[in-house]
Amino acid sequence: MSDPARERAARERDDYFEITELAVDAGGSDPYEYRMGARDAVLAARWAAAADPSDTRIGSALRLAGELTVAVLTSIRSDGETSLEIGGSIRPVVPGLPAEALSGEQWANGLWAATAAGDAASAVRLAVLREAPPGESHEDESLLAAALATWWRNGSDLGSRLIDALVATDPDGRADGDRLLEIAVPLIRVFRHLFADDDEALMAAISDAAARHRAFHRASSGVDRPEQYLSLPLTGLVVLARELSRAVPPDIDVVPDGVLRSSRSQIACAVCGQPLKSAEVVCHWCDADTTVDAPLETSIGELAAGSPTRCPTCSTENRATALRCYSCSASLLPD
Ligand SMILES: [Zn+2]
Ligand SMILES: [Zn+2]
Repeated sequence: MSDPARERAARERDDYFEITELAVDAGGSDPYEYRMGARDAVLAARWAAAADPSDTRIGSALRLAGELTVAVLTSIRSDGETSLEIGGSIRPVVPGLPAEALSGEQWANGLWAATAAGDAASAVRLAVLREAPPGESHEDESLLAAALATWWRNGSDLGSRLIDALVATDPDGRADGDRLLEIAVPLIRVFRHLFADDDEALMAAISDAAARHRAFHRASSGVDRPEQYLSLPLTGLVVLARELSRAVPPDIDVVPDGVLRSSRSQIACAVCGQPLKSAEVVCHWCDADTTVDAPLETSIGELAAGSPTRCPTCSTENRATALRCYSCSASLLPD
């Protein structure tokens, strides 16, 4: 990128970081601000990636985007005021946003952003609190996000979700057929190889998806739009691949280094096994006091490992290490 283009990207980045901060501060009294902030944090990450792909603030902005999306969903779903960790501090979330406040696309962006930031706690909440985007769209990326949500919920029907996503990408008769072929189909291929065991094929799929993402955005807009180069889904899938100890190609164009270098240690509730935010003193799911039952340090790979335990009371699939169901609080210990 030329120097003037890079300077412009840096200016846009700084502006979006600033307005995101304002939205985070205002969101405690008006949750619509959290929604604005989620969008602006993604834009901050995009412009930061265009200005300098090694900037570790890209990861923080994506993490914030995921947290703000969780706040929006929490405002929609809850009856009383709650508090959540947003940007490293605990902030109030008032109820009252209507369900339409979060579109399928925004939900998908939040889920990919949390995944790209390696933030399991936000990703799981987005996956669990909204099982699938409502039937408003059959957008390829929303369906791919639905498959990702299945994985974060530890669900066992990932294969059928990916097939749904593939079926929905039939480009015949669709105005956005090119986008499907160039963007969505290569991502579905990466996703499928992530859960097969051929590292060479996974690396080839990642490189192909990156090259096609870049070429598509260069060709379709006619003008260079550097903020489009960051691919949230591909970044998310590459982060998962690394967490699952899979080989990934070095220097992937549309996956900024700054994201791959940010820290990704996780903590999980000692009682229900769900990932937690570090500043939370009460487990969001099962109400365990995290100052008594100290959270367990873990990784995304460990969270995903082991076959889930099905709750005998409500049939929800729980993490293999859970002692109590996160959904209904029933004991998972054998009698
Ligand atoms: Zn818990
Ligand atoms: Zn249960």
